[in-house]
Amino acid sequence: MSTLITNIGEMVTNAPADGPGDGPGEFAVRTAAALVIDGGTIAWTGPAGRAPAADEIVDARGRAVLPGFVDSHAHLVFAGERGAEFAARMAGQPYTAGGITATVMATRAASDVTLRAGLRRLADEMLRQGTTTYECKSGYGLTVRDEARSLMLAAEITPEATYLGAHVVPPEFAGDTAGYLDLVCGPMLDACAPYARWIDVFCEDGAFGAGEAAAVLAAGQARGLLPRVHANQLGPGPGVRVAVQAGAASADHCTYLTAADVDLLASSGTVATLLPGVEFSCRQPYPDARRLLGAGVTVAIATDCNPGSCYTSSMALCVALAVREMGMTTGEAVWSATAGGARALRRADVGYLGAGARADVLMLDAPSHTYLAYRPGVPLTAAVWREGRLAVARPQILAG
Ligand SMILES: [Zn+2]
Repeated sequence: MSTLITNIGEMVTNAPADGPGDGPGEFAVRTAAALVIDGGTIAWTGPAGRAPAADEIVDARGRAVLPGFVDSHAHLVFAGERGAEFAARMAGQPYTAGGITATVMATRAASDVTLRAGLRRLADEMLRQGTTTYECKSGYGLTVRDEARSLMLAAEITPEATYLGAHVVPPEFAGDTAGYLDLVCGPMLDACAPYARWIDVFCEDGAFGAGEAAAVLAAGQARGLLPRVHANQLGPGPGVRVAVQAGAASADHCTYLTAADVDLLASSGTVATLLPGVEFSCRQPYPDARRLLGAGVTVAIATDCNPGSCYTSSMALCVALAVREMGMTTGEAVWSATAGGARALRRADVGYLGAGARADVLMLDAPSHTYLAYRPGVPLTAAVWREGRLAVARPQILAG
């Protein structure tokens, strides 16, 4: 079954520089374009006037088409919510990591059925907003049983499941960080590794220090997991250095960086993943995206969707914030939310539209990618194809 999407007003391609299989390249757009989906992959892209025949035809009527968003940082397995904490924060109380414990208690008390239902609701919410690839962390269980079931559930919906036993020290280990890390790097890792691709650690004052974080990543790598790090969110610290030294795919947050941190990122294969929804939701200063881009650092944008510091699943909002608050161009922000996310997840099959890419396609009810920032807060999703299958469509879009 093949589908031709034609009369695309503007197609964001992020085309690979060297050819199929290399993953996304630079930001690039093509106007008056078309693409062909065959099975689960993109078979052809090019000018609408030279489009080949296909089993079915979708007329985009001048709308913009993008690669599906790649959200490389999300915490989706949890129970409960913390709306009152958000309201208190907006009334002037500071954000502290302590609120995480409330979610940990609710998550431990929840049934598998409840956790799965919440996870699937968020995953569906993301898909309806054009996110076709997402990472999903554990980190609200913090016991062997609860971390393992969190990852088992995450692995049901995404191959990008991340073991985050080293999120915070749970209350029953208060004052015994070493004892908790023995669990995280021992029996908990044993139980979680079969379900996870990644290992992550919250390297920050009040969470885990440089030596502790490096030990967690090394333990995960010894079990075949790939490292990524929560780094430099609340203040300057060793997170970026730990990430780069471990060969991490990504250092996430990067809100407080020294010149040395920026140099380290620029000279490494570690992506800087910026999470502007967190600064928005915590009323904190935004990371300096222009400084990173100026130094040649690869920048991704993700949501950090979680019930505490940032409860948005909207990549479009994060693009708008990146443009309005972090000085990124609309093209840079869209690239970072698609190709950048793919780089942060070391994926060569998503984040671009070209022959051989996975057929993850977002059609906007708008003529250009710029509308994501130009019309913030407006639901612009017209249709979404995921692995070639039409997953979301406004009724009028495909009516012919
Ligand atoms: Zn996070």
